[in-house]
Amino acid sequence: MASILVVEDETAIADIIRFNLEEAGYTVRVAADGEQALREVEAARPDLLVLDLMLPLVDGYAVCKAVRARSGIPILMLTAKDSEEDKVRGLEMGADDYVTKPFSPRELVARVRAILRRRRAPAEPLPDEPLRVGELEIHMARREVLRDGRPVPLTAREYELLEYLALRPGRLFQRDELLRDVWGYEYPGDLRTVDVTVRRLREKIEPDPSRPRYLLTRRGAGYMLQVPDQAPGPAPAERLSERP
Ligand code: CA
Repeated sequence: MASILVVEDETAIADIIRFNLEEAGYTVRVAADGEQALREVEAARPDLLVLDLMLPLVDGYAVCKAVRARSGIPILMLTAKDSEEDKVRGLEMGADDYVTKPFSPRELVARVRAILRRRRAPAEPLPDEPLRVGELEIHMARREVLRDGRPVPLTAREYELLEYLALRPGRLFQRDELLRDVWGYEYPGDLRTVDVTVRRLREKIEPDPSRPRYLLTRRGAGYMLQVPDQAPGPAPAERLSERP
């Protein structure tokens, strides 16, 4: 069963989270501050981090950034207030998803389960041949992306979005479809989550993120991945918009 590190300084909240995750069958450790969290990530190698934004000494953003610098471990962020800015900033720091406080324990467990469900079972056979998208190579067996032969550091969610679209090139997906299929949401979520992840992915895979060649926006419709060899040609103006 997956192991989860909960980073939360408020004991009462940490206990509620621990109780509910253990009830759901997960192994849970708790870190009360950012420094302890970083030590635990190194030593215990958890499968997922539940990270509170409001922490003493080092805040959740800094912890998120420090973890991201060394690991692609999925991060579910707890934001104290329902602030758009907090969520977007968390996602930009590399969090995979967030839950707003006060949260229902059921929702938190559902989010954790959804994130972990996206991880592929290692036993599942995967093709050795990488998917090729322009100068990108997507190695599904190792969940690794190379750009011009060099590894691209992607978060778990960025990788999953790219792989999902790359397996279905030229198909247009609405943002709520992507939340359901890539994020595993069983109920409507915040569509901005998709926009922010697309933007971060573009910064890592596109030669010019402001004029995407691969990950295209269709205004009013959604996102699609285009393999340049299949449809060469100049980028129409509609591809330049940031959001559908
Ligand atoms: Ca806290």
